[in-house]
Amino acid sequence: MSDVRVRFAPSPTGSLHVGGARTALYNWLFARHTGGKFILRIEDTDQARSTRESEESVVQDLKWLGLNWDEGPDVGGEYGPYRQSERHHIYKGYADKLLKEGIAYKCYCTDEELTRKRDEAFSKGQIPQYDGTCRDLDASAQQKLQLQGGKPAIRFKIPKGAKKLNDLIRGLIEFPEGMVGDFIIVKHDGFPTYNFAVVVDDALMKITHVLRAEEHLSNTNRQLMLFEALKFPIPQFGHFALVMGRDESGNVSKLSKRHGATSVAQYRDTGVIPDALNNYLALLGWSHPEAKEHLSKEELIKSFSLERVGKSPSIFDVGKFEWLSGLYIRGLSTDELIKRTLPFFGDSVQKYSKEQLANGIHVIAPSVRYLSEIPEKFFDAFDPDKFVIDEESKVLLKAPQAKVVVECFEHELTQWKGESISPDILKGMINSIKEKSGAKGKALFQPLRAAVTGKLSGPELDQVIQNIGKEGCLARIAKTKKEISWG
Ligand code: GLU
Repeated sequence: MSDVRVRFAPSPTGSLHVGGARTALYNWLFARHTGGKFILRIEDTDQARSTRESEESVVQDLKWLGLNWDEGPDVGGEYGPYRQSERHHIYKGYADKLLKEGIAYKCYCTDEELTRKRDEAFSKGQIPQYDGTCRDLDASAQQKLQLQGGKPAIRFKIPKGAKKLNDLIRGLIEFPEGMVGDFIIVKHDGFPTYNFAVVVDDALMKITHVLRAEEHLSNTNRQLMLFEALKFPIPQFGHFALVMGRDESGNVSKLSKRHGATSVAQYRDTGVIPDALNNYLALLGWSHPEAKEHLSKEELIKSFSLERVGKSPSIFDVGKFEWLSGLYIRGLSTDELIKRTLPFFGDSVQKYSKEQLANGIHVIAPSVRYLSEIPEKFFDAFDPDKFVIDEESKVLLKAPQAKVVVECFEHELTQWKGESISPDILKGMINSIKEKSGAKGKALFQPLRAAVTGKLSGPELDQVIQNIGKEGCLARIAKTKKEISWG
């Protein structure tokens, strides 16, 4: 057992994003590698944007990824509650303490005043910062404002001096003095701000390492000031570089919807195996000491370290992700593969026997990157009613040599008196087609594939042929002949 305590602290304002999932995964791997604890904390202080629905979906996504937590809203723990909206009394206590010590003060400035001043600063090309209007109000001025009915916010008096941070990933970071002005820690409505709640929680929950995305760096500056003001021990910090995406014209920018799927739910819904996503996310910023890329969760836990997390942004490479996704699909046991694939068939599952489904899925799975691709390929390959010849197959089939090959196959099939076509029988048929047509290699197999599946690529042809049997092949060849109108 180690004393490592890390947390994943999502704001439930939407679904879990790839970047958030990577943060959760790195924290989880770090906890599991060190034998520490992984904590889930829901940061729902932004009442207007947080929803229970979104919290539930984030929880569901984390569970789907298998990133289990040791303490959290649903499982409890020694330092709960783990939902910030249930901790207001705790924040209030610390805000009062800072007020009493003169490190924080009541601020009566209205939102309108603050917005006007902010706009003014912008129009002069200055970076807006609180101008200190309420910093030194004496008791009578405060009372007057209070009587006018103003509900004060609580503002933190920022200390003098620069801040330094030895970031576990980025090395030494300096935050020069004057980067931020006095900031609000409790809003007019009594709700704590993010920076305040996080510091109180990280301290009380005894978080040893705050590991999160680089976009929080400017918050870290503020949080360091609060840790000191509250005399809390300061955890170690590590900031992960951003996850980027590359668009069609090759431009790189922060990963967003235009780069494709960005939410974990989308990956689940297209039939990705959760560990394939974990494996890929782990590689988005971290590398295995021996540059291994296909890594099970156990291997990831064993080899993960913050030292091997890089400082530069990583690009979500869809091709590489799909390669890994396919590997994980091929690695499933037959039972698991069928169990995971059947839901993608929806109602059409009733049309086929258990055996047909099992065999067909087994044949098709090696050629897909997502389980959701299987039903359509299954219909293409095995359902004569849904047999469609695509355009490139039509072009290929129109060549005279293709006609010869397909007719030879038809002849072989008709000659064969059995129904099922074993690998040996098929081999014999292929040899004889070769001999009679003079075609070999691609020129032999492509027309056969096109005539039997309607596509130029897909599952292993011999397996499809075995699966649909003699009558199935003949029915498709008949359809092909009609459609290509060879006469
Ligand atoms: N709640 C913050 C977010 O979702 C994370 C805060 C943190 O990790 O400190 O971005």
